[in-house]
Formats: sequence, C-alpha cells, structure tokens
Amino acid sequence: MFKITPQCSVCKKEIQANEDIFVKMKYPKSKGMTEIKAFIEYQGKIICEECNNK
Ligand SMILES: [Zn+2]
Repeated sequence: MFKITPQCSVCKKEIQANEDIFVKMKYPKSKGMTEIKAFIEYQGKIICEECNNK
C-alpha cells in the first residue's frame, strides 16, 4: 500500500480501495523491479480511471 493517501493527480480525488488506477512514471534507468514501488511513491502520478478516459 501507499504510505501517503493516494490521490488522483488530475482531479485530486481520493483513490478508493479496489479502484482501478493508472500510474504515469518514468521507468527507472538503473534500478531493478524492487525499486518500482518506492519510485511510484515519490515520482509516480496516479490518475483515476475517470480522468484517464478523458
Ligand atoms: Zn481523477
């Protein structure tokens, strides 16, 4: 889970449990898959399904 309250970066809506989300992020260059979770928390932009479909 995310340490911070997940929020859509477009509409600022709080992401609800079991909601489909999209995360826009740069794939880390030199780090492995284990770093992805931390990467999302610091640099990922969470987009709710509604905004992604616009
Ligand atoms: Zn949204």
